Amino acid sequence: MAATNGSIFGAMLQEFDGAARILNLEPGIWKILTHPKRQITVSCPIQMDNGEIEVFTGYRVQYNITLGPAKGGIRYHPGVTLDEVTALAAWMTWKCAVAHIPFGGGKGGVICDPTKMSKREIEALTRRYVAEIVDAIGPEKDVPAPDVNTNAQIMAWVMDTYSMHVGHTTTSVVTGKPVELGGSLGRREATGRGLMIATRESARHVGFDIKGATVAIQGFGNVGSVSADLLMREAGAIIVGVVDWKGGVFNAKGLDVPKLIEYAQQHHTVDGFPGADPLNCENLFKLDVDVLIPAALENQITMDNAPAIRAKVIIEGANGPTTPDANRHLHDRGVFIVPDILANSSGVTTSYFEWVQDRYGYFWTEKEVNERLEAKMCEAFGAVLQTSLKYKVDMRTAAYIVAINRVAIVTRMRGMYA
Ligand code: GLU
Repeated sequence: MAATNGSIFGAMLQEFDGAARILNLEPGIWKILTHPKRQITVSCPIQMDNGEIEVFTGYRVQYNITLGPAKGGIRYHPGVTLDEVTALAAWMTWKCAVAHIPFGGGKGGVICDPTKMSKREIEALTRRYVAEIVDAIGPEKDVPAPDVNTNAQIMAWVMDTYSMHVGHTTTSVVTGKPVELGGSLGRREATGRGLMIATRESARHVGFDIKGATVAIQGFGNVGSVSADLLMREAGAIIVGVVDWKGGVFNAKGLDVPKLIEYAQQHHTVDGFPGADPLNCENLFKLDVDVLIPAALENQITMDNAPAIRAKVIIEGANGPTTPDANRHLHDRGVFIVPDILANSSGVTTSYFEWVQDRYGYFWTEKEVNERLEAKMCEAFGAVLQTSLKYKVDMRTAAYIVAINRVAIVTRMRGMYA
């Protein structure tokens, strides 16, 4: 197996190849599905609060639009690269196909450190970035959403900037908006809710009780915090360890998650939360727990730490948290891994619900959203599990088989233009 040399897109290609080989994918479709359709790079000059002008580089990649408009979040992070955004856009393609929703895959990223920027600077950057890509996005073309370090307020600015350009309010150009302006009830919690469902279904398959199961979580942003909360309150699991960018906390009897969320909101970290012992990331991975949830960034579970992992089940809240060699090692040791493109797909599934509601101008109750989400997630989990049993492959390869097959069928049906 070729080394990925640190390329995240290279890791995606390795995962793709394994599944495409099993599917006997013809070379032409193979070539199409391993190339991004469109990659846009823009420079965004912003006047900072100190009066100086900074230029920020932004990307929007539309990886594949065979099944529908490109769909995927926008992330603000100093480590953003075109390689990363392209991999994330490819993963969105497979995620939407696994979730069985009519979208292609896209992703955006801006190289910046929002923790060091004022609210006004973040708004200015968002509006300039959207203005630079305004011709490429739209309800029928490409629909952004939140991702790392972006939130509902930023999506409101995306919606407003696009609407000002086209001359009328267009809520369905972006999802993950505040509920007051066309957002969907349940969207903010959706990714965490889906992780809870994936954990519950995995526990049933592997053969342990979710009630009383122990859980360790890396990352305490929207995905990590909501999944911790729902796993504790709705599924009866015990969250024993959480780490974030600054530090972490451990309590063998279980952390009080609602209090931890409150603490993290005030301190911007879980570090120092009273009534728990300090914990670092290295030791989080070594915990003797039933479930490990990486919910931070890519390339976190590598061959440096995978041999020490003791969890029975890994539920990937982040996109691309496990390197291909660590994935093989863990699978060979019998660890049941629910891959990102399945585990965290409820976020984009509920984005699809939001887009549908915006286009209808008719909104669902939270109960309706959650019931439809539960049905979609269970359908996707069942399809991937059946495929993994049929082909005797791990859940990641199975998820790729389901996704590639769906996109390939439509690619063949549509045929070649010109
Ligand atoms: N950023 C999320 C993801 O990686 C959500 C994307 C969306 O809702 O379009 O799946």
